[in-house]
Amino acid sequence: MSYFYDAHCHVMNLRHPNLSAVINRYLGEAGPWTRIAAGVAVMLTGFPGAQKFLLSLTRKDERILSLLAIMETPLGDYLLQMEEDLQKRVWGKGICIPNSEETYEKVFLTPLLMDFALRGNEKKNSKLVYSVRWKPMADQVRDVCLGIADYYREKESKKEVPMLEVHPFMGINPLIYNLDPNGDDSQTLNQVLDKYFLNFTGAESCSVRRERILAYNWRTFKGDLDALGPDVFLGIKVYPPTGFNPWPMNNKEQTDMIPNAGWKKLRDFYSYCVAKNIPVTTHCSNGGFLTDPAYKDYADPARWAKVLEEYPKLRLNLAHLGHDDRDNEDMTGLFSEKSWRRAAADLACKYDNVYVDISYRGVKPGYYEELGKLFESLTDPVQKRLEDKIIFGSDFMINLMAIDSYSKYMQNFMSSSLGVVLMDKFCNKNPESFLFI
Ligand SMILES: [Zn+2]
Repeated sequence: MSYFYDAHCHVMNLRHPNLSAVINRYLGEAGPWTRIAAGVAVMLTGFPGAQKFLLSLTRKDERILSLLAIMETPLGDYLLQMEEDLQKRVWGKGICIPNSEETYEKVFLTPLLMDFALRGNEKKNSKLVYSVRWKPMADQVRDVCLGIADYYREKESKKEVPMLEVHPFMGINPLIYNLDPNGDDSQTLNQVLDKYFLNFTGAESCSVRRERILAYNWRTFKGDLDALGPDVFLGIKVYPPTGFNPWPMNNKEQTDMIPNAGWKKLRDFYSYCVAKNIPVTTHCSNGGFLTDPAYKDYADPARWAKVLEEYPKLRLNLAHLGHDDRDNEDMTGLFSEKSWRRAAADLACKYDNVYVDISYRGVKPGYYEELGKLFESLTDPVQKRLEDKIIFGSDFMINLMAIDSYSKYMQNFMSSSLGVVLMDKFCNKNPESFLFI
């Protein structure tokens, strides 16, 4: 089976992200998130006039309404609507790159779950009477897995062949788990890792892993988390904007790690992922669901350079090609010494198991042309190396802030001038080697 991979997307509903923390940070700032946050807040409060206000917001930008709709619909329907959109607008007659021999039988999605639990700072900075005090990952895992199961059940009931092959990434913030069982119900880091990744081994070949993961029968899942085995998740997503510090960089951060055994948790986590050859995707841009300004630099690829010095075999994807909105928007910034893009690309070239995805970046018209020009400007060995390290991703539904639909994002890629060879590498070969399947 040959797949078109979207290795960075999200299947998420309104109760998963910590919207009140994000709204609190963003209020007063201009930009699309403020509008979305305000829209959500008004809608949820149900004040008189809320509908009118919401309508005025959405008339200016219908994408906000699309984003709300997809996040409100049950997650099984979320996936069905992604599929219908693709079938109607891009791939009615089979999944292929235009004017090429490359055809793919299905679209392979790896929805990335994210741990939105707060780390404490956000509460100190909030003047609100009430706050979100816990965000159990269990809820998100159950919702997303039920959504995937519902999608497959629905396709089966209609006797239709699913166009999507869905295998999520578990969201883990290693720093918020306990190290030792302490008598209550809280899980330890190792228990969580073993629950979802026990069957992963460093010795497993990619074909064995592929077979094992594909064999999982989603239709049997009815919501009982105890019944979820270690063949459901394909990798791990870590998310620095909500407080995961991948590697402390200064004295203060290093001492902050000590009271809660942070160093040990980080080392246990990376050792586990290396030993079991688990793909890890990290958010690598200075935007996103940032809940505290202090976390802005946690996504800096410089931190991962430190991690990789100690764990050079870590299977890592630096998402969004290390985007930093302080850099030049065009790709010339790739080679400015201090840019995050340059740092992310350097790490991908230096380490065999490190990749970069270009999720969300493709919302910008002309993005792939810039990427193509960049390739032409590179020296031969660097070009060859980087060509094998870039992974296609959409960042759906987050990308609805800047693009009308999933199909539109796909069309931008399919109609780009990258050429068949590069496109096939980005959407098939490279994600397959990162995912190790
Ligand atoms: Zn994302």
